[in-house]
Amino acid sequence: MDRTGADSRDQKMFVGGNWIDAIDGERLPVENPFDCSVVAYVPRARARDVDRSVAAAAAAFPGWRQVLPRERGRALIKIADAIEKEIERLARLLATETGNALRTQARPEIRGAIDIFRYFGGLGSELRGSTLPFGEDVLSYTRREPIGVVGGIIAWNAPVTLASVKIAPALCAGNTIVLKAAEDAPLTVLAIAEIAQNFLPAGVLNVLTGLGEEAGAALLNNPQVQKFSFTGSTEVGRLVLQAAAPRIVPTSLELGGKNPCIVFPDADQDAATDGAIAAMRFTRQGQSCTAGSRLFLHHSIHDAFLDKLVKKVSTIHLGNPIDEETDAGTLINAKRHTMVTSYVKEGLAQRDAKLLTGGSPPTEGPLSKGYFYKPTIIAGATNDWRIAREEVFGPVMVVIPWKDEDEVVKMANDTHYGLAAFVWGRDIAVALRTAHRLEAGWIQVNQAGGPAAGHSYGGYKQSGIGKEYSLEAMLDSYTLTKNVVVNLQGGPKYS
Ligand code: NAD
Repeated sequence: MDRTGADSRDQKMFVGGNWIDAIDGERLPVENPFDCSVVAYVPRARARDVDRSVAAAAAAFPGWRQVLPRERGRALIKIADAIEKEIERLARLLATETGNALRTQARPEIRGAIDIFRYFGGLGSELRGSTLPFGEDVLSYTRREPIGVVGGIIAWNAPVTLASVKIAPALCAGNTIVLKAAEDAPLTVLAIAEIAQNFLPAGVLNVLTGLGEEAGAALLNNPQVQKFSFTGSTEVGRLVLQAAAPRIVPTSLELGGKNPCIVFPDADQDAATDGAIAAMRFTRQGQSCTAGSRLFLHHSIHDAFLDKLVKKVSTIHLGNPIDEETDAGTLINAKRHTMVTSYVKEGLAQRDAKLLTGGSPPTEGPLSKGYFYKPTIIAGATNDWRIAREEVFGPVMVVIPWKDEDEVVKMANDTHYGLAAFVWGRDIAVALRTAHRLEAGWIQVNQAGGPAAGHSYGGYKQSGIGKEYSLEAMLDSYTLTKNVVVNLQGGPKYS
């Protein structure tokens, strides 16, 4: 079935096993942030398109829930195998639409998605209940049941990862899903759906393209959607919760972060400087919810650490995302570029602010045409600056010195976010003591990786509700537990 229109740049969306246009035929452009060219047009789904898609998912649900869990899992594993055959094509498409570098980001993201499909594909048998000890005359047992139609909404910054951690557990648990891709990066998610369609009955997976206020809001308002799973900003997360309230729709939220990265004086300086760069996600242009964008440095190592850090950051090679030598690509769009620029301007206007590197977009050569921004470090900050409190979602690190352990923990926790944190230090007792005191859902000690299949991933405070990536997350987020109690008393006694 054709998934593009007459112009190969005209993409369709995937609903009920068909590749279709929006009912009113409207389209949205998808831009390559490297050179601002339009790489594709996608359907602009509105309420009627959403309703059609939810109806398809609802129609597919009774059949899909009856498929044995291990069979559902096997379908996910086949999807993983099929994606694996197309890593290169998918990674290049992903780099083109997101501006994330092929080598450091896009390719690893596709590989991570394969892992996620395989991981959840193996968990079908774990959808089990338990029996409860209420005595010899009672059989009390629980069943895990799917919820129904899941309404998934995702951000653009890691679209394939985010799509995978919603599709794979939702489907393994026996739900069907309508996933609204982010308007800035829908193409690789559509390409994943094209692969997945070969292994799934029609209507089990549906992918919509469109704007948040239109398609996203319509999905939240559709009464047949029985579960919301949202990844995006805390602001929109609040709207999702509001939409959930009237019908008490179970809701998972993966939201923003302003994550602390705390360096103790005994930390291995080489590892910790590399680690601070990795934590800041500089090679993702800082566009990560888990970016360690507040660097808390003990005063005794402050200057030496920053010397080393700045030297290393200045070697990050910005360039065309699809070039192999490129370490870091572009910001996603003009709006984000403007926002990052204004945050930095405001930060640098603060008293004692010291720009150590970056601080502007490239102004000459080919990079000046795309949404590039130089990796930026601003020292001399305090935790109350706006740039230290709000999620910049760009390659901007603020450095805050500290002296006292209680004080640094207090500053680290003085935020409405609570997604991730990083601790660097050789004394493991101190590092773990600190990890236990930090108000965040995911703490890394002496490392700064990304979430992987099996992690208990999710935020505290206004960074979210619920978990993703793990078996427990699948059980908690995508199943309902039913308790059946049977009275075994009575009945004939055969003798
Ligand atoms: P966003 O909240 O603006 O958009 C996210 C999604 O919500 C998009 O698909 C968008 O179309 C949709 N949306 C927007 N308005 C809507 C509305 N009124 N109703 C329904 N849907 C609506 O976020 P963004 O700018 O795309 O992404 C960046 C944010 O996502 C950052 O805050 C980042 O921290 C967060 N994020 C969190 C995680 C996590 O796992 N915690 C992962 C990635 C991104």
